[in-house]
Amino acid sequence: MAKVNIGLRGWRFEESEVFTEDGEFKPLDEVPEEPRERLVRLTYLVEQPCDACYLIHGEADIERCAQAAIVYGEPGDELLLCADHEADFLYWYREEGGKAHRGEPTFRDRFHEWFADGGRAPAGYEGLDHVDTDPDGLPDPPDPEEIHRRLNEGFEGRRIDLREGWDDADDADDADESEDAEELDLDDVDLGTDYPSR
Ligand SMILES: [Zn+2]
Repeated sequence: MAKVNIGLRGWRFEESEVFTEDGEFKPLDEVPEEPRERLVRLTYLVEQPCDACYLIHGEADIERCAQAAIVYGEPGDELLLCADHEADFLYWYREEGGKAHRGEPTFRDRFHEWFADGGRAPAGYEGLDHVDTDPDGLPDPPDPEEIHRRLNEGFEGRRIDLREGWDDADDADDADESEDAEELDLDDVDLGTDYPSR
């Protein structure tokens, strides 16, 4: 059972729950509720800035914020990070007590407070080994307008194929291997991105 990232790193989807055997997104009514909630949420999140960048630059300077590449936490309480700020988050999570707040509604706020207070990873602090994973290489979530339309139609309608770059079976196999390696790293750190939401 392969787990895949879609749009952003962090949230992992069970491939068979989200994609058809042909590698296309399933109709939403065939996707279990929990991954469906995250999938719909992702269509919004992929356009959002990194939380840490936003704390630095703010709304007035929002064009200087990097777009989010990584998502942690629960739908609605997500922490969004760019690749540069992931190390700060991981340091907070591992070394500054962040892990104790895993699953709490205030998880994101705790990190924001720490970061806004000047909390940073030491220079050279290594994040996960998957930093070379190119977010642009991940399959995109379904188009938001398409999702909206389908939700409004009660999930009926044709299937869409937005898995660009995943057409080839060999490519998919390679991607699975790298995802598995990444998953080991994540499990080791125990970020808890898959813990039950309630
Ligand atoms: Zn950032």
